[in-house]
Amino acid sequence: MLRVAVVGSGPSGVYAAQALVQQRAAPEVAVDVLDRLPCPYGLVRYGVAPDHEKIKSLQNTLRAVLEHPRVSFLGNVPVGPAPLVPERLLGLYHAVVYCVGAAADRRLGVPGEDLPGSFSATEFVSWYSAHPDSAIDAFALGARSAVVIGVGNVAVDVARVLARVAEELRATDVPHAALGALAASRIADVHMVGRRGPSQAKFTTKELRELATLTGADVLVRPEELALDPAFTDPSGLPGPGRRNVEVLRDWARRAPAGRPRRIHLRFFLRPVALLGEEAVRAVRFERTAPDGTGSVVGTGEFEDVPAELVLRSVGYRGVPLPGLPFAADSGTVPHDRGRVLRGGAPSPGEYVAGWIKRGPTGVIGTNRPCSKETVASLLSDADALLARPVAGDPRAALRAMGLEPVEWPGWLRIEAAEEELGRALGRARVKIPDWPGLLTAARDG
Ligand code: NAP
Repeated sequence: MLRVAVVGSGPSGVYAAQALVQQRAAPEVAVDVLDRLPCPYGLVRYGVAPDHEKIKSLQNTLRAVLEHPRVSFLGNVPVGPAPLVPERLLGLYHAVVYCVGAAADRRLGVPGEDLPGSFSATEFVSWYSAHPDSAIDAFALGARSAVVIGVGNVAVDVARVLARVAEELRATDVPHAALGALAASRIADVHMVGRRGPSQAKFTTKELRELATLTGADVLVRPEELALDPAFTDPSGLPGPGRRNVEVLRDWARRAPAGRPRRIHLRFFLRPVALLGEEAVRAVRFERTAPDGTGSVVGTGEFEDVPAELVLRSVGYRGVPLPGLPFAADSGTVPHDRGRVLRGGAPSPGEYVAGWIKRGPTGVIGTNRPCSKETVASLLSDADALLARPVAGDPRAALRAMGLEPVEWPGWLRIEAAEEELGRALGRARVKIPDWPGLLTAARDG
């Protein structure tokens, strides 16, 4: 039997495990899905916004794979740093598929970026998703005005969570401390700002439309700003997603605000040049841009300061190098050929990649399925050579001998039960445990 380790239990890792155990052409495969966290599902648990229950329910599909008789979940197993360096892991399995995502955020590279009150969207998402590594206890929710830089789906998520009435989040699994902080938030204005035009915004139309469904917030757009986009007057020539976004914004430009307590301002053609403030951020300085006719923009030399005591920089994720694996710093990915990891330009026997660390942080969750399938097809076509590789006896015993203490599936089920119990105690539905000691205690003792 071919023994494969998949590193990372987010969508790309689980889709890789699924493709490995569902195939019929090659030898039978047994898959261990390793994760540094004691909990599975990656960004489905720690990235998808808590109020997106339908997307979160994808966990049920992923769960069915992790409960397959030839798939085992081994959480709390960090790969990369000693003791479990890639070389050692490769000694335990015929093949290893790295599906470790893109864990960091892109930098803006402007003065003031690190002022107190300025955070990456990733930090904010980790906080409201109860990620156990979230280092920030409370965001500057005493702020009246927040700026979200970027107009992708993550920007929409964080703007929406900031603008929601806390009661709307009570029914979700958002951690209790975050719910309390959001309930006490004084934010009245959320400015979501794109450096290019509405036809080039990265958010999807479904996510955009959802902003207009919030009970406590109006969405405001400026018709004269939208009209700077040449495609705004007649969007019929745009590709589908851009056209649909523009159509929604055109519709909103004609509507009067309902006078709700919070406002989401959608702004365009403004590029951030500095975060202003001394002790803490108080505004973001933007330069007005204009389309250059090629899809990009040029600065106009006009500036606008948007007041903000909270800034969330939502300009995309970035892959981080995993110690012992090759890494292309410019793309933030592992060099590969159809999923085979390349070392010095040649395929490294037994090492594969899938998901964001393979192709960069783009696409929706479903994009990972064909990506993982391509990698698994490469792996299976190498099966004969992989089976010839000598591997150690029992990987679990070897991991324990290294001092690692994997949380296996029953441990995860105990975490789930503890989260249900926590929810009951708080008069809520299931509530996530937000810290390492809490998760590990629950995994051990229930
Ligand atoms: P993204 O889609 O790449 O959007 C990044 C945004 O940041 C773009 O508006 C980009 O503008 C802007 N940006 C980049 N550098 C900038 C700079 N220096 N100054 C100002 N703006 C800058 O990234 P994301 O929102 O983090 O999403 C990552 C992936 O996850 C996407 O594929 C997304 O669809 C997916 N996702 C999906 C969902 C969902 O389906 N509900 C939810 C969350 C995330 P330019 O276009 O001008 O570069």
